[in-house]
Amino acid sequence: MGVYTTTNPATGETVKTFPEISDAELQDLITRSEAAYRSWRTTSLDHRRAVLTRAAEIHRERGQELAALLTLEMGKPAAQAKGEVALVASIYQYYADHVEEFMADEHLQISGPGTAVVRTEPTGPLVGIMPWNYPYYQVARFAAPNIALGNTIILKHARNCPQSALAIEQVLTEAGLPDGVYLNAFISSSQVADAIADPRIQGVSLTGSEKAGAAVAEVAGRNLTKCVLELGGSDPFIVLDDADLDTAAKAAAASRLTNAGQACTASKRFLVQSGVYDEFVRKFVEQAASWTPGDPTSSDTKLGPLSSESAAEELDELVAGAVSQGAEVLLGGGRTDEDGAYYRPTILGGVTPGMRVYSEELFGPAGVVYPFETLEDAVELANDSPYGLSSSVFTSDDEKAQQIAASLETGMVWINSTSKTAPDLPFGGVKRSGFGRELARFGFNEFANKKLVRNP
Ligand code: NAP
Repeated sequence: MGVYTTTNPATGETVKTFPEISDAELQDLITRSEAAYRSWRTTSLDHRRAVLTRAAEIHRERGQELAALLTLEMGKPAAQAKGEVALVASIYQYYADHVEEFMADEHLQISGPGTAVVRTEPTGPLVGIMPWNYPYYQVARFAAPNIALGNTIILKHARNCPQSALAIEQVLTEAGLPDGVYLNAFISSSQVADAIADPRIQGVSLTGSEKAGAAVAEVAGRNLTKCVLELGGSDPFIVLDDADLDTAAKAAAASRLTNAGQACTASKRFLVQSGVYDEFVRKFVEQAASWTPGDPTSSDTKLGPLSSESAAEELDELVAGAVSQGAEVLLGGGRTDEDGAYYRPTILGGVTPGMRVYSEELFGPAGVVYPFETLEDAVELANDSPYGLSSSVFTSDDEKAQQIAASLETGMVWINSTSKTAPDLPFGGVKRSGFGRELARFGFNEFANKKLVRNP
């Protein structure tokens, strides 16, 4: 049987391991999840609201301790880890505050006699499969709305953040969630497939890579299980020649380098109108160079290590491959001299369609700049990607921004800002970035039974 392991990416030290559970233990979890669903679905909204509010409070009370686990397990700089915990508190609070509104009956205006009401009801036990890059946030945006709705959850987290995974279960238990409503499961990919195939499981949500998404969607499809997929992204960041270049360059560096560049909605491709290309690149390089890699436990550090040695090696392979094919290194271009999974802030130019970095996701502190001439060129280049998650447009002309926004094949567009996330904003993509939405009312409805009750 495999293990889940805490390895500190800043030092390479293995801190703790946890064994996977057996097939029989997984069966027991599904049984408990199903039993819990039968009663949780009937609990009062007041009760659910109280549990979610308490979960938010615990995150606020224990911010420091919870954040330290993120820094230990995936190298998130301390200040960013605290920011993630605060965001997660706001997600639990948001669903506590809105559950009544989101569960309210919808009375339809119909042409015939009588009434037609759409009720919002839960559907049953769900499986969540989550990645390590925002260990608490990824889970919260799936767990909070579904706990509010009355569903129950079995959560398979990434195998490099087991202590963060256990902390989530502990916080929710302490917040007053009854046994079985949220269950952590240290399981293998084949056990995930077994769980999805179990007729008691009514849905599955995965945030992760395309490869994992395709594997999960295949099993879900075969078993007619509803699924939501939040996959990778290679978000374009478009700079028009009338943009405020200082603001844009600062935002570009922050978007590319926060969380060591390991965010699905980080800007990864920087498309710059030719008239301001040189000036923007100079400012972007200057900004990015100020993000010095350092100890993630220090409150001053903005750029920590990548989540693992293998993540740093994979990024280096992509960058080196592009350079060997003629890409130009404008900044960085490799590992630092320190031990640990560190990578220097990196910017590449001269990238062409034959290179892997043109079409693949760079999941680390490395971005690519491209010049363009017209707005049509910018849109064509931006859309020339298998992904369609989010995007940014920097310009002082709102009409042009709206025109570009209408043409981008992405699930989200941000004007004069990089992509952000908030509990009240829907989040999700198109193309190979997945399907379905999380957060806001949209995320609440993904695993709801919108039940029509017609009384003619
Ligand atoms: P990953 O390898 O796909 O892992 C994500 C989760 O899926 C982990 O829990 C992993 O478990 C599990 N998994 C992997 N293969 C599986 C399979 N065949 N069956 C069932 N579960 C499987 O993802 P990653 O590379 O670590 O994470 C980064 C990716 O996530 C990037 O592509 C990033 O863009 C994407 N992401 C997307 C969003 C979004 O909202 N769109 C947000 C964040 C990240 P193990 O750890 O056991 O392998």
